Amino acid sequence: MMEKGALDVVVVGGGNAALCAALSAREHGANVLVLERAPKDQRGGNSAFTEGSFRMVHSGLKDVIKIVPDLSKEEIARTDFGEYTAEQYLDDLGRITQYYIDPDLAEIIVRTSTDTVHWIREKGVRFLPFYGLYAHRDKGRSKFFGGVVVCAAGGGRALVEAEHSAAEKRGIVIRYGAQVTGLVRGRSGVEGVRVIVDGVEEEVRARAVVLACGGFEANREWRTRYLGPGWDLAKVRGSRFNTGDGIRMALDIGAQPYGQWSGCHSVSWERYAPDFGDSSAPLGGYRHGYAYSIMINSEGKRFLDEGADFRNYTYAKYGRIVLQQPGSYAWQVFDSQVTHLLMNEYRIKGATKAQANTLEELADRMGDVDRAQFLSTVREYNAAVKRDVQFDPSIKDGRRTVGLEIDKSNWANPIEVPPFEAYSVGCGITFTFGGLKIDTTAHVLDISDTPLPGLFAAGELVGGIFYFNYPGSSGLMAGAVFGRIAGREAASFAKAR
Ligand SMILES: Cc1cc2nc3c(=O)[nH]c(=O)nc-3n(C[C@H](O)[C@H](O)[C@H](O)COP(=O)(O)OP(=O)(O)OC[C@H]3O[C@@H](n4cnc5c(N)ncnc54)[C@H](O)[C@@H]3O)c2cc1C
Repeated sequence: MMEKGALDVVVVGGGNAALCAALSAREHGANVLVLERAPKDQRGGNSAFTEGSFRMVHSGLKDVIKIVPDLSKEEIARTDFGEYTAEQYLDDLGRITQYYIDPDLAEIIVRTSTDTVHWIREKGVRFLPFYGLYAHRDKGRSKFFGGVVVCAAGGGRALVEAEHSAAEKRGIVIRYGAQVTGLVRGRSGVEGVRVIVDGVEEEVRARAVVLACGGFEANREWRTRYLGPGWDLAKVRGSRFNTGDGIRMALDIGAQPYGQWSGCHSVSWERYAPDFGDSSAPLGGYRHGYAYSIMINSEGKRFLDEGADFRNYTYAKYGRIVLQQPGSYAWQVFDSQVTHLLMNEYRIKGATKAQANTLEELADRMGDVDRAQFLSTVREYNAAVKRDVQFDPSIKDGRRTVGLEIDKSNWANPIEVPPFEAYSVGCGITFTFGGLKIDTTAHVLDISDTPLPGLFAAGELVGGIFYFNYPGSSGLMAGAVFGRIAGREAASFAKAR
């Protein structure tokens, strides 16, 4: 029996999944405490480092305008939002994860995605069309591609701040600098958590607990243990606080490990980026223009298909491939025909860059690439480009190479017009894929697929969703969907207890 006066729901974590859980539990009548490990000025986890973009089902303008009601006439006139059906979303999740994704969890994400974005909006988050990464501008018109159309105005930091103020407004208490270290178990299941605040451990009793405290990407030791050798050296793109605590404490009481423990989301990232994300420039390490480049390793060879698909279907798996190259680095090489397509991140201070008017000089300036092999790679590549196909970055244009050991499938421009630019990248890890098994009510399951009474989970620490790769902007969406469900279910569990 829980004692009178105990809290209804404790939410562990302070990112998007946690705040959605807290808001939802409150909406369903629970009193809620949020325990966030980070200090207040660093609150919000990885969610605060994002662009705030959400992948949801939509059928074009008529859905977008409900989420962005302040769309201007001019924006409406110049934008083709396309559409993204539930079937496309399910296909993308299946294809991208090599059909390992838990079909029940996939179905829930897809079917409730649009409604969940509405719900977040009602809580006070403002959304905008996400022109930046997902729309191509041509002759004054913007055309969306790749399934994502909206993002929180002001990006991830603003998303998280709006979610926090919505929580505070509704009387949800948030404690910062509160590291949860374990779960308290009673005769009827989970009855609270142990937490360290200011170096002192205390017990917080609650009728239900929601774990939403991220994956283990910031834990160097676990990375090496589960992802493999070399991962200790990867750069963490976001929060330093996600060290797998929630996963560990649930496993300690018999939760079932689920999903791809050896897999993670990782990208081509500034080679000399700091060890953890820089909240003052959270997106500064991106090098997302690789589809217009050729990527070269230290041996001067190409090692992947830069144009295999739209960026948002390949970027999350290419960090691993860079990590696997000799020395764990690579260079993205562009010529002047495409550099206008590169985003601002290439122009900022801190980008490791070489520029030259000849390829020979460029090789010298890169300095750590086999010069002769690099020149021959570019020669062979240029000769293999199908120049008769029109280059078009807004579609998979089929302008490809033919006959190379590794062909480039789209957007293949010869590297021949100076000045040439090259950017050096390493591997940046975003979040890990392995975690806990939940059912469709976000209840954490034990090894026999039985719910652990009183324990719910959402966000990055849920396993079974992403494998091998990731369709861009589905992390916030999955976290919001299951956070909302976890909050609702935890509130109802608490009431019944
Ligand atoms: C640079 C970057 C850009 C991204 N861009 C996007 C994007 O635009 N769209 C998208 O969908 N996804 C994006 N992602 C992925 C996205 O960040 C995650 O999928 C999502 O934010 C996960 O939310 P979460 O709430 O599970 O975890 P987080 O937001 O990481 O929150 C975890 C929280 O748990 C807290 N915590 C950890 N341990 C403890 C503990 N022991 N006790 C208490 N609290 C603890 C942390 O401090 C943190 O507040 C991006 C990620 C990065 C790093």
